[in-house]
Formats: sequence, structure tokens, C-alpha cells
Amino acid sequence: MSVVAIDGPSGVGKSSTAKEVARRLGYAYLDTGAMYRAMAWLALSRGVTDPVDVLEQVRGADLEISTDPDEFSVSVDGIDVTEEIRSAEVSENVQTVSSVPDARAELIERQREIIAAATPGIVVEGRDITTVVAPDAPVRILMTARDDVRVARRAKEVHGSADAEAVAATANLVTGRDAKDAATTSFLTAAEGVFTLDTSDLNFEQVVGTVLDLVKD
Ligand code: C5P
Repeated sequence: MSVVAIDGPSGVGKSSTAKEVARRLGYAYLDTGAMYRAMAWLALSRGVTDPVDVLEQVRGADLEISTDPDEFSVSVDGIDVTEEIRSAEVSENVQTVSSVPDARAELIERQREIIAAATPGIVVEGRDITTVVAPDAPVRILMTARDDVRVARRAKEVHGSADAEAVAATANLVTGRDAKDAATTSFLTAAEGVFTLDTSDLNFEQVVGTVLDLVKD
């Protein structure tokens, strides 16, 4: 079983790259951010913010996540939250969960179980995959891109345009979340042995091709 571990900040194109690489290799795909988002959705829906309550909630939650790169879905306690976890409200509150060390430990354990069960391989994306979740993965990549490039990409995704207004509305969502995430996970610089893939001046096909080349090497 082979693992391709991909980390990086928001708006860098991790998800689309990881999914496409998984498709081409016939591998499974795991979006670990979706697991944190699903738990944040649950916390929001119950009004839970205290770290002790967050941990209890994470421990008790029935979290189901698809590993099919062609059909992504995630559900919590039987409720499909595939769409809901992408809302601005969840993005703004996800750190209620991801900043709680014991809640992270619980989700990391589930991620490792999913990875261990995947055949013939799995592409896993997140913030701490190359360093904590799967530090022994044969291929470990940190995707980066300049801030302006990431904000423009996310603005296009969310607002359908990268004009000045859309960029202004998106900037804080992207770089503000990264700054907070950097307090709990070290995804801003590559750990030893991790390949840095700067995507600022590459198109999608070039990024996917680079990852596939690293897998073949
Ligand atoms: O990747 P995505 O932007 O969907 O991740 C949402 C949030 O989940 C991140 O901002 C971060 O707080 C958290 N996360 C994390 N560790 C991961 C993946 C995501 O802390 N491996």
C-alpha cells in the first residue's frame, strides 16, 4: 500500500490536485480538512465551543467520509454535510476543533485507520500529513503558492471572479486562516525530506504531472 502525502495552506490547489492524482493512479483519496470541517459543523450546530466539549463531541461522533476521488461525501451521525462544510461559517470556525490537541489526536487516529485500509494506495491531503499523520509515506509534498495567487484562486472558486471586490472579500479568509492554523500545525515550511512544490507559476496539468513524476521515481 502506497501513500502520497500532500500538505499546504488554503487555496493552494491541494484538493483538486490530490483528487486528480488519485484518479490517475487508481488510488483512494482522503481530504482530512473535510473531517475537521465536519466536526466544526457539528460544534456550530450544537453551539459547542469549549475545548472539553469539543473533544467529547469528536469522540462520540459517527463520522463517515468517502475515499472515492470521483464521489466525495461526508456525513456526521447520519446527516450528509458534504455541502454545508464548505460554508464561510464553517471555514471561519473550523479552528474551534483543529486547535484542540486531543481532538486532533482523535481525528489523526481515524485518518491512520483509513490510510491503513486503503488499497492499492491513497492520496492524503491536509496540514500535518507529511509530518504527523504519515511521516513515513514514500512521497511527501508541500504545495505552496504566493499569497496573491492563492487569494485569487480562492476568490474565483467562491465568487466566480478575481476582481478587486472578490479578492478583498477573500483575502482574510485565506491568509487569516493560515496564520491561525500555523499555530497548531507546521505546514508553512517543508520538513526534512519533504518536496516543496511551488505552484504559483504552474498550470494544473503541470502540478499533477510533477506529483505523478515524484510517485514514479
Ligand atoms: O483543507 P481545508 O482548508 O479544508 O481544512 C480546513 C481546516 O481544517 C484548516 O484550516 C485547519 O484548521 C484544519 N486542518 C488541520 N489539519 C489537517 C487538515 C485540516 O488542522 N490535516
